[in-house]
Amino acid sequence: MALSTILGYPRIGQGRELKAALESFWKGKSQESDLLQTASALRALHWKLQQETGIDAVPANDFSLYDQVLDTSAHFGVVPARYQWNGAPVDLATYFAIARGAQHSGIDVPASDMTKWFDTNYHYIVPEFAADQQFKISSNKPVDEFNAAKEAGIKARPVLIGPLTYLLLGKKQGGKNLDLLDRLLPAYVESLQKLEQAGAEWVQLDEPALVLDLDDSTRAAYAKAYAQLRQAAKLKLFVTSYFGALGGNTDTALKLPVDALHIDLVRSKDQLDDILAKAPPNLILSLGVVDGRNIWCNDLEQSLALLERAAAKIGKDRIWVSASCSLLHTPYDLDLETKLDPELKGWMAFAKQKLQEIVILTKGLNQGRTAIADALAVSAKAAAARKSSTRIHDSAVKERLKKQPLAEAGRKTGFDARRKLQQARLHLPLYPTTTIGSFPQTSEVRQRRADVKGKRITDADYDTFLKTQVKSAITFQEEIGIDVLVHGEFERNDMVEYFGEQLSGFAFTKNGWVQSYGSRCVKPPVIFGDVSRPRPMTVYWSHYAQSLTDKPVKGMLTGPVTILQWSFVRDDQPRSVTTHQIALALQDEVLDLERAGIRIIQIDEPAFREGLPLRRANWNEYLQWASRGFRLSYTGVKDDTQIHTHMCYSEFNDIFDSIKELDADVISIETSRSQMELLDAFTGAKYPNEIGPGVYDIHSPRVPSQEEMVALLDKATQRLDAWQIWVNPDCGLKTRDWPETKAALEKMVAAARAMRAKQPQRQAV
Ligand code: GLN
Ligand code: ZN
Repeated sequence: MALSTILGYPRIGQGRELKAALESFWKGKSQESDLLQTASALRALHWKLQQETGIDAVPANDFSLYDQVLDTSAHFGVVPARYQWNGAPVDLATYFAIARGAQHSGIDVPASDMTKWFDTNYHYIVPEFAADQQFKISSNKPVDEFNAAKEAGIKARPVLIGPLTYLLLGKKQGGKNLDLLDRLLPAYVESLQKLEQAGAEWVQLDEPALVLDLDDSTRAAYAKAYAQLRQAAKLKLFVTSYFGALGGNTDTALKLPVDALHIDLVRSKDQLDDILAKAPPNLILSLGVVDGRNIWCNDLEQSLALLERAAAKIGKDRIWVSASCSLLHTPYDLDLETKLDPELKGWMAFAKQKLQEIVILTKGLNQGRTAIADALAVSAKAAAARKSSTRIHDSAVKERLKKQPLAEAGRKTGFDARRKLQQARLHLPLYPTTTIGSFPQTSEVRQRRADVKGKRITDADYDTFLKTQVKSAITFQEEIGIDVLVHGEFERNDMVEYFGEQLSGFAFTKNGWVQSYGSRCVKPPVIFGDVSRPRPMTVYWSHYAQSLTDKPVKGMLTGPVTILQWSFVRDDQPRSVTTHQIALALQDEVLDLERAGIRIIQIDEPAFREGLPLRRANWNEYLQWASRGFRLSYTGVKDDTQIHTHMCYSEFNDIFDSIKELDADVISIETSRSQMELLDAFTGAKYPNEIGPGVYDIHSPRVPSQEEMVALLDKATQRLDAWQIWVNPDCGLKTRDWPETKAALEKMVAAARAMRAKQPQRQAV
């Protein structure tokens, strides 16, 4: 008999109870015991739900108060020295200090770094290994949660991050992370033995690093580590891979001396046959057929076909039916979406519904198709509807895209010629100053938005309010002498949602929250259909702002790749096609802005880099369609319209050629925290266009001095020609307050003036 299982469940709670409990505890409004009680109630509820739905093998220790990687660090006593941990079991104060930093009673320590968990939007706390790192069991969480499940009548399978993935995700002072393996393994052995003593039969070791490009020494380390764990522990070992194919690591994974292996068949169906052919005789295969990364309901017929193929080869007894990865990355419960259009809802499944799908598929595999005939029929009907629904398919959009010569997307006139025309029209000084787009989203702005949504004020009231905001932002920028103004984005809730709400093909959930980091959740829009723009989206505000001043006001758009990356995307066509549809909708907007007299248009792509596939072999394909998408969004603009883009991150080295190919006239990037080091990528290979290297970090309320910014700009001039350099902050200012924003921007303008004074004439173009 095949068994049903999942690798993990969302922990934030159906009403984001964990978020509320955490934030109230952090504010000192509730006790530790209150927080722990909420946490244990959530765990119990989620176990019960899985059990009642019929999941055979339920995980434990998939829960976390903040992050599972941080839990692993706490478990093994990996606490950086600055937290002054005394070696006793890691308490909550230390745990949250690592996660969030701490500032109280004489203590002032920053948080550990946080970064994206593989290619998800979930962020983990990066382990920091000391050069002489020791590992010592310092929390009992895995055993405690296993015991709690036992008390609830469930013999759960504890989950740990596997030793290799854990080490590979961390950063180490000096030497290689894997040098620590010999020291880490005894701690894992001890942890497994404790679980065994507590009565656990299985342990799940998450090794998503198995889907990355690994070198031979890392593969050898896998073999060695698991041989050692196998020898020391009597527990059955379940190793999981997810977020992609095992690829070149297939043999490594299949040779591990473990009892079960999980593979992701959503990201990579193609790997099934190879793995079936090579799997050693007793290995159980856990087959991830239900998508743990998206919100579409499963095509049961298709999944069952895969499962049956596997069963024919290795037998039902050696199969577990599962989701591709932990359900952490999906929202909680579709049943809560009472306002969603019923047809659309019929095509979707959240975590709770995915449990049902897994149970149904397991039943279908074990008892035959007739046992799940009804579910198969519903699923087939939904699949058929999605193929033909006019709600999804818009032939005008498809036709338009087909006619695009994508390889030619972009501008025909070269940058040098454009630059002359733009300069003749814009008359910008050397070191032109600008900002990235948003100004402070004050509580007043947010309140008015809530008021108009809740119909407590009229649309006209809201419009008047926003106009006063825009007007004072324009006045302020003129007064302090910024060269290229912005309207301030006061009308926007979020840089993707704002556009999604105005585009066809998008839907929004009420409660589709997914954990992003700690207590933070995001509610991504759902792109379900062909995308088009029924009417202008930003022209009204850009035009209004431009009417208030003679200086150029930048039009402000979110780019196609970022809209794609930060949404749940339809799975019935390639992501590239969806991106190109969004790009065409944006192109309509760009051309309308241009017609409305907007001379500079910025198309933000902060998520361009995070779209990179996990494996290098797939990078080129992505970079090609992504950069075509970006270029498509401005194809057709006049030569003297200046196109900007913005990307707020580091690490351009890998993708530098593609950044050049975007051919934006101006790109603003984050550089202040790295002291302009990032610019190295832009100098070595010589960036041909203009660049605004951020001169101050907007993530902190700190107001930088003029001298600091001049020093950064001086560094920039060592790497770039003066005519290339723009002066701007690292990112938008929406999270800041006005006083610090004003102070910082005044200093920034002064810094630009000081730079000009050193080099008074704008070089002739
Ligand atoms: N234009 C946006 C803003 O200023 C850009 C935000 C971002 O890069 N994430 O807020
Ligand atoms: Zn940014």
